[in-house]
Amino acid sequence: MAPSVAIVGAGFGGLCMAIQLERAGVRSYTVFEKADGLGGTWRDNSYPGAGCDIPSHLYSYSFEKYASWTRRYPEQPEILGYLEHCADKYDVRRKIRFRTEVRRAVFDGSQWQVTTAAPPADGATSMEKGTEERTETFDVVVTGVGQLSRPRLPDIPGMSDFAGVSFHSARWNHDHDLTGRHVAVIGNGSSAAQFIPRVAEQAERLYVFQRTPNWVIPKPDATFQPLTRLAFRLVPGLQRVYREWIYRYAEATLYPALAQGWSADLLRKRALRHLRDQVPDPELQAKLTPAYPPGCKRVVIDSAFYPALTRLNVDVVTDKIVRLVPQGVETTEGVREVDTIVYATGFMTTDFLAPMEITGRGGRSLREQWAGGAEAYLGISVPNFPNMFLLYGPNTNLGHNSIVFMIECQVNHIMACLPRLAAHGPIEVRPEVMAAWRGRLDAAMERMVWGGGCQSWYMTAEGRVTNNWPGPTTLYRKLTAKPPHNAYRPIPAS
Ligand code: NAP
Repeated sequence: MAPSVAIVGAGFGGLCMAIQLERAGVRSYTVFEKADGLGGTWRDNSYPGAGCDIPSHLYSYSFEKYASWTRRYPEQPEILGYLEHCADKYDVRRKIRFRTEVRRAVFDGSQWQVTTAAPPADGATSMEKGTEERTETFDVVVTGVGQLSRPRLPDIPGMSDFAGVSFHSARWNHDHDLTGRHVAVIGNGSSAAQFIPRVAEQAERLYVFQRTPNWVIPKPDATFQPLTRLAFRLVPGLQRVYREWIYRYAEATLYPALAQGWSADLLRKRALRHLRDQVPDPELQAKLTPAYPPGCKRVVIDSAFYPALTRLNVDVVTDKIVRLVPQGVETTEGVREVDTIVYATGFMTTDFLAPMEITGRGGRSLREQWAGGAEAYLGISVPNFPNMFLLYGPNTNLGHNSIVFMIECQVNHIMACLPRLAAHGPIEVRPEVMAAWRGRLDAAMERMVWGGGCQSWYMTAEGRVTNNWPGPTTLYRKLTAKPPHNAYRPIPAS
């Protein structure tokens, strides 16, 4: 009999898992989604200018080609539309339980007891107004909760004293018109770089509070002309060849830069040229020049960010923020008076799977097992947590290629595990396999640029890189495509 599968999250990961189960004829799955719509991060991040700096044809499932992309780099509404299209085409929407949050999952020795919270069926609309907990039994749990799903607010004194309107970039307040406002943006990562040009056009005054500059390279965006779109629709194999070309190009040029290889210096030179081309003022250039190697933090890929910073109504503020006061942001140099603050301060990235409580074999807490930092074999499986699989788990994030590619590799691996656990009962990754994996990761990590003297969301406070994959993605595909059986064992009798 097919195993029953609980999938947590209806973003790129959870949907991919559901679709592949559906395509394999396995109908015994449920997708739990805490929001009232699908799309995960592409539903949550609706800030002006939100989009992806990985090209559309690669930032999509390999099995679902899409001739409707209107531009080379997709914007958020189009990505969300693509995911809606996939959910409908593969008929997985009927299996998604929206507004249902997974709170706990406990392995009872043979199956998972999954406890969810949802609004009562009597029509109450808010999760906060009262939720009903319900526990159901599944053979398998697959988590697809992403690494960038929980917004992180900074810890700045006086935040509650601010008298204006404030919000996080991933929870954009679309009711708050920024026209003519005095706005502070705290943070200058990929999200801020995308919305700052839009906000700068509306606001009367915009202060960009930059703690650390980022390396920025151009985004060669363009709309696809009707003829190109027609060709994508009609010419057999064109989408596949184009996708493969983008993938190979990123792998051959960007990956070696992150591994401090032949293209590292080229990347630095490209970014410096982009800065000089777009920012004529030497003083501003100096402010925007990072002191760490490119790629140590996520490189920003954007062509509109620097020009926005040169506008007369925009100031890049590098003074240290001391506190927030009712009328604005106080720095070591004085108060910048604003009526709106946007926190573009990123996400809680190293607490994988939080706030869910996961209890594995013998009552082991995942949180405790991961006290030194999250880790998983292939980023997918964790010793002592049988029949539990992670999508976009530890050490599977990329700074140079498509996460959707990685998710597909993970789903393939999980699909290959299902027949064995269905036939012989729960399986878990062997501890010695995990230990060897850890050693291999640590060795590969040494040549990567992420430990190169910067603080980033890729690492824990203690400096361990728990988020990024330190190899070529071609290797990841090869490793996840191997028959998984030797890496797993039936659970030992306790
Ligand atoms: P982020 O890269 O983590 O950037 C957070 C920013 O907030 C940084 O500039 C950080 O400064 C600043 N910050 C944090 N706490 C602060 C404090 N207390 N005071 C002052 N500044 C503070 O977050 P993000 O921009 O939301 O992007 C997160 C990730 O999402 C990206 O790296 C990328 O992987 C993904 N993303 C991708 C795309 C895409 O096009 N594919 C678009 C958007 C986002 P420091 O640098 O000094 O820490």
